[in-house]
Amino acid sequence: MCIRVLIVEDERRIAAYVKRGLEEQGYAVDAVFTGPDALYWAGSTPYDLILLDLLLPGLNGLEVCRELRRQDCRASVLILTARGSIDDRVLGLDAGADDYLVKPFSLKELLARMRALTRRADSGDRQPVLSVADLSMDTNTRRVSRAGHEIQLTAKEYAVLECFLREPERVLSRESIAEHVWNYDVYNQSNVVDVYVRNLRRKIDDGHGLKLLQTVRGAGYRLSAAGRQVHP
Ligand code: CA
Repeated sequence: MCIRVLIVEDERRIAAYVKRGLEEQGYAVDAVFTGPDALYWAGSTPYDLILLDLLLPGLNGLEVCRELRRQDCRASVLILTARGSIDDRVLGLDAGADDYLVKPFSLKELLARMRALTRRADSGDRQPVLSVADLSMDTNTRRVSRAGHEIQLTAKEYAVLECFLREPERVLSRESIAEHVWNYDVYNQSNVVDVYVRNLRRKIDDGHGLKLLQTVRGAGYRLSAAGRQVHP
């Protein structure tokens, strides 16, 4: 299956270099140079992966990313940034990105990140539907729902939730979640896991009396059917 990639990068030399490198690896690649063009193209083509520069004419990468997520764009978003501080990274993840790569990067590293993002959960002989209380995940269709309502998750949010659903009731440390979801050790892992758990909590627990995703102080997080009942 051909993986469709959109490159959003206003430095045309970089865009052309990355496009050529990816095409040699068999990816189907389009490149655009501005934020508004990125939204237009992503809205009309179902990309699997969007490589998104942050400093762009028209609309910056964070704004593009937020808007894509607001429109329920399902593509994985990998931010390409010259900024490397933890705050900038967290901002990107908060905007709905799945990962980021700091410039300058090698094509080899970019390809490794892209493989991690587009890797489909191996179905094997694993149970296809995972559930805790009224939360369920179908690993074949990658649909997640709570009380019958479908929940839209980014690729990494899905991967984090899958960790919890495969080991319900068990306390998972931030490190073990990070190791499972990211295969490399490039950033402050616990910080990033906290961002994802916060987003997941908003998506799966907000509006429900029974809070499934719990913080276990000093240890990590747990997904529990016993949950915590919050009375309005
Ligand atoms: Ca730029």
